Amino acid sequence: MKKLAALAGLALIMAGNALAFDQDRAMMLLTAQVAFGPRVPNSPEAAACRDFLHRELSFWCDTAWVQPFSYTSTDQGQTLKLYNIVGQFNPKAADRVMLCGHWDSRPFCDRDPDPNNQMKPLPAANDGAGQIAILLEIARQLHVKPVSFGVDFVFFDGEDFGRESVIDDYLLGSKHFASTQPIPKPRYGILLDLVAEKDLKIQYELNSYMNARHVVEKVFAAAERVKAMSFVREPGQAVMDDHIPFLEKGIPVIDLIDFDYKYWHTIEDTPDECSPYSMGEVGRTILDVLHSEKF
Ligand SMILES: [Zn+2]
Repeated sequence: MKKLAALAGLALIMAGNALAFDQDRAMMLLTAQVAFGPRVPNSPEAAACRDFLHRELSFWCDTAWVQPFSYTSTDQGQTLKLYNIVGQFNPKAADRVMLCGHWDSRPFCDRDPDPNNQMKPLPAANDGAGQIAILLEIARQLHVKPVSFGVDFVFFDGEDFGRESVIDDYLLGSKHFASTQPIPKPRYGILLDLVAEKDLKIQYELNSYMNARHVVEKVFAAAERVKAMSFVREPGQAVMDDHIPFLEKGIPVIDLIDFDYKYWHTIEDTPDECSPYSMGEVGRTILDVLHSEKF
């Protein structure tokens, strides 16, 4: 009887619209990525984590694959082997939504106050693992409760490789993906970056607001429906992020970001600065966007 009651409870939870997002599982997925070590391009840690993420996407999505490419940084004098990781639901559907974030770790903690840490790679808990963990849990939820249109998960490599003055060395995965466009163009896209911190506050990112306001409105309306208090309807900063290469091609991709993170690009960007609650708010919001979508 007890077991039956537990199962009935589970069925009830599954039947809810967007409330099933398991924030504790998302937190576990964040910690699991950080445990590989920094996922800096060309490192064995990145290779191991890449396999893990590809496997996770393969498990929940209809199909998952990796887009390899290379990039030579004249500034840092090395050739990088990079990998965007893709998972697709309903790969043949014409109407599609892209959910994306970067999975790589920055090679240096150049904002750390301690000079001894500034050449060390970033743990990248909030600035990397957090958004990917949220997206993986969303993928699992879509497996449990599917939608009728296409959803593409794209994890970009090499977002955070550049030194601060060297703009060419940033956004490597999204620039490659947008220029090759290996999947049909989405109706719109949602990029997550730096959205797992404890003190989360997501304002309007201004490039998104100026270029894809209807998507911003759609997402903030969903946040209100699920009572995600970390979404605040006020103008934030304009951020150069992985949505820009898509906006430049006329594809409306918005950036959900809290750019005001105390441990940004420091050695303290660790799981203990992240919060399952924040991840839950973001996850539930995006699931609500998807389940309310009517193409
Ligand atoms: Zn970063």
